[in-house]
Amino acid sequence: METDAPGGGIALYVHIPFCESKCPYCDFNTYAGIEPLMPAYAAALAREIEQWGAWLGRPALASVFFGGGTPSYLPARDLRRLTQAIQEAFRLPGDAEATVEANPGDCSRERLLEMRRAGFNRISIGVQSFDDAELRALGRRHTAERAAQAVRDARQAGFENVSLDLMFGLPNQRVSTWERSVERALALGPDHISAYALTLEPGTPMEASVRSGATPEPDADLAAEAYLLAQAAFAGAGLRQYEISNWARAGRESAHNLAYWRSLPYLGVGPGAHSYLHGVGALGRFGVRFANVKPPRAYIERVEAWTADGPLDPDGVESASAVDSREFVSRRGAMAETMMMGLRLNAGVSDADFRARFGEGVGDAFPGPVAECADLGLTEWADGALRLTEHGRLLGNEAFVRFVGA
Ligand code: SF4
Repeated sequence: METDAPGGGIALYVHIPFCESKCPYCDFNTYAGIEPLMPAYAAALAREIEQWGAWLGRPALASVFFGGGTPSYLPARDLRRLTQAIQEAFRLPGDAEATVEANPGDCSRERLLEMRRAGFNRISIGVQSFDDAELRALGRRHTAERAAQAVRDARQAGFENVSLDLMFGLPNQRVSTWERSVERALALGPDHISAYALTLEPGTPMEASVRSGATPEPDADLAAEAYLLAQAAFAGAGLRQYEISNWARAGRESAHNLAYWRSLPYLGVGPGAHSYLHGVGALGRFGVRFANVKPPRAYIERVEAWTADGPLDPDGVESASAVDSREFVSRRGAMAETMMMGLRLNAGVSDADFRARFGEGVGDAFPGPVAECADLGLTEWADGALRLTEHGRLLGNEAFVRFVGA
């Protein structure tokens, strides 16, 4: 089985759709109050993992990422059962990155040890803020102190690779509270930080509250200031920016997320999970992207009815699995996607890699967008790659749309 991923591996995403409560800004495919579904869900997920492993011929994995939702909310025995199913259905190198997302409130010492025992070697802790008022406004259940303790306990439990999630551009956030969050995060010595600006997603309670005037609109200028402040502080602490919203110590960049940004093959299991497989078996060079059915109950029913007989048939992927929609990717579509995702990386898109995959260089494939972005100061060539400039990093979408629309 050959794939386009380094070492021939697929990045595997495992979706856990349970949350203890629903945060008012969140529009992910996650649910509160469906805990009774957990046992049937874990069984269905294990089955989907087995089926895909069999269908794809037990390929190698480059990384595993349990996200959600709240993976740390799932009972430890279910996490163990799922990691075991993955090891049986795929070939997982012992040193492959295996991440579990965790809420600080779930991070008791015992739970952290159980996550380590289940095989996770990287933990991504959803801190979001070290300001208790901001955490309450975000609907988060933990306090700043609880988050700090979770990080310390994760180290004690043996997690050598710890990532923290932070959010800026919040309603009522001040530069001073953000600066304190950044300082407290850095004082904990994380290996990796993801810092995202809040987006007001249509249909969420927070967006409705802002629309009605009950909550002030986040200030875009303050968000830009917060971003620049974080960039300087993280760099000063030895965390190198490698993507628009991500910083890491050398060698601690997220292998799993790099697979997305480099347009390498990934498989998503669980309700609503997205996949993009190419260069795998019958899927061809530019491959197919597909998404599973979203409601957890419908997902469980679809997986229970799935029998993976014979080799993977790309045409039959919808009718035979939990897949709800699929789209074959054209060469041009794959090129645009490679640019849009790759430009998010500080290293940019390597001209040699692009040529190896598509048979022509970036400049030949996109002469108009490359010239336009250069004129606008959005991109530059460096070390054989097209990348965003410092200015372009603040205005990434301005560059992306030019490649996608070309
Ligand atoms: S914990 Fe995360 S996934 Fe769950 S509702 Fe809150 S933001 Fe969404």
